[in-house]
Amino acid sequence: MNIQNFINGKYINPINDNWINNYNPSNGEIYGQTPNSSKEDLENAYISANSAFKQWSQTTLEDRSRILIKISELLEANLQRFAEAESKDNGKPISLAKSVDIPRAASNFRFFGNAITQFASESHESVGQQAINYTLRQPIGVVGCISPWNLPLYLFTWKIAPAIAAGNCIVAKPSEITPMTAFLLGEICNEAGLPKGVLNIVHGLGNTTGQAIIEHPNIKAISFTGGTETGAHIAKVAAPMFKKLSLELGGKNPNIIFADCDYDNMLETTVRSSFANQGQICLCGSRIFVEKNIYKKFKSDFVEKVKQLKVGHPSKEDTNIGALVSKPHLEKVMSYINVAKKEDGTILCGGNKVTVKNYENGYYLEPTVIEVKTDECRINQEEIFGPVVTIMPFNTEDDVLEMANKVKYGLSATLWTNNLKRTMRMSNQLQAGIVWVNTWMLRDLRTPFGGIKASGVGREGGFEALRFFTEAKNVCIKY
Ligand code: NAD
Repeated sequence: MNIQNFINGKYINPINDNWINNYNPSNGEIYGQTPNSSKEDLENAYISANSAFKQWSQTTLEDRSRILIKISELLEANLQRFAEAESKDNGKPISLAKSVDIPRAASNFRFFGNAITQFASESHESVGQQAINYTLRQPIGVVGCISPWNLPLYLFTWKIAPAIAAGNCIVAKPSEITPMTAFLLGEICNEAGLPKGVLNIVHGLGNTTGQAIIEHPNIKAISFTGGTETGAHIAKVAAPMFKKLSLELGGKNPNIIFADCDYDNMLETTVRSSFANQGQICLCGSRIFVEKNIYKKFKSDFVEKVKQLKVGHPSKEDTNIGALVSKPHLEKVMSYINVAKKEDGTILCGGNKVTVKNYENGYYLEPTVIEVKTDECRINQEEIFGPVVTIMPFNTEDDVLEMANKVKYGLSATLWTNNLKRTMRMSNQLQAGIVWVNTWMLRDLRTPFGGIKASGVGREGGFEALRFFTEAKNVCIKY
C-alpha cells in the first residue's frame, strides 16, 4: 500500500516521485512505499498551513474543542483498524497497540480539546500607576512537529493535538520507519471537519524532509521527539533563526529497587518497565539497581519471569514481545550485546535472535538481562533502546543515587521503596524530568513531561504544551 502526503486536506504523491520502502518488521518484507518528500512538497505544505492560519486562529475555542473531540471519537471508533496498522508497521504486539497506542492517541485529542477551553492567562494591575497589564497567549503561526517510530501515533498526536488546540497550523512529519497511522489520520481529520490546511503531513527521511522543515525560515516553532544527536542537530540549525524549540530526547533511566518495597508489584512492573514495546520506550527502566540484601532473590525471580515472556508474531494476542522496528535497529541492539560480552558483562538470559515459524526474516530478539560489574560500562551508559536491561547490586542510598545520576541523560527514574523519608530525599535528588515511585508509566496528561541534561529541553503535557504552542504578549493600558 502506498502512503501519500496529506496537504490542504488532500492525499497527494510527492512532486519528484521519490519513494522509500516501508518494511513490515514481523517478516522483513516490503509492504508499501512512502514518499521521500522534497523541499517543494514541504513548501506546498507550508503554503497550505499558512493560508489556513488566519481563519483557524480566529476559530472559537468551542469549535476547535468540538473538532478535536470528534477526532478522538473517530479514532476510538476505528481502534481495531488503527491498532492493526500500527502493529504491522512497527512490529509491536497488537494487544499493546489496542490497549496503549491508539487509546492514548485518542486521549491526546480529547485531553487538549478539553484543556483549551480551560486555558487562561494572567492580568496584573499596576497599583498606584493607573495601569493594567494583561497577557495574551496567541498562536505562533505555522509550527513543525517531528516524531519518532517507537510510539508512532501516540507521540505524533501528543504534539499535533495541543498545537491545533492552541490555534496553530501544522506541517508534521512522522518517522519514515512508521508512517502508516499518521497517513490514516488525515482521513479522520477530514471526517471530523478539521478545516483544510490546518494539519499537513509530509512523509520522508530525516535528512531530506525533516531537514526541510527545520530549515524553513517561516516555520516558527519545532516540537521534536527523537534521538539526542538529532535533537542537537535541530538545535544548531534552528538557533540562528530563533525558532522556539521543544526537544524530547533519549534516556537511560534507572530503576532503583530497595528491599522494603512491595516485592510482587515491583517484580511484575519491572518486567514491564524493562520490556514493554520490546524495550523501545524512552521511559523504559533500562538500568536496574537492586539493594544488596535482596539482589540474589531478585536476580533469580526476575530472570525466571523474563524467560516466560513470549516472543512472537505481533498479530497474535498472546505475544508479549513482538519484532524490533527495523533490521538496522536489530543490528544496533545486537551490537550492544556483543559490547556487553567484551566488557565482561554476564548474560543471564536472552542475547539471541529468535526465529518465529513462518516469519523467519522478522526482526525478533530474546528479552535480555545482563549483569554488569560496574555502572560505568558502555551498556550501562549508552541508550540501547531495545529489549536489553542491565542489573547490578548496590549497598547504600548514596551509592545508588550517585550511579543513577552518573549518565548524560535525565529523562525518568523509578524508585521502589515504602520508606517515606527516603522517597522524599531521593525524588528530590534524582536528576530526571519524571520520578515514578512504586509504579511506572502511570501518566496524567496534565503533568509536565520532559527531560533534563541530554534528554531534552522544554516540557510538554497539560498547559505546558499550550504555553509552548503560544506566544505570550503583554498589553499594558494606562487609564
Ligand atoms: P531519530 O532522531 O532518528 O528520528 C526522529 C525523527 O526525526 C524522525 O521523524 C526522523 O525522520 C527525524 N529526523 C532525523 N534527522 C532529522 C533532521 N536532520 N532534521 C529533521 N528531522 C530529522 O529518532 P528515532 O530513532 O526515530 O527514535 C528513537 C529515539 O527517540 C530514542 O533516542 C528515544 O529515546 C527517543 N524518544 C524520546 C522520547 C521522549 O519523550 N523523550 C519519546 C520517544 C522516543
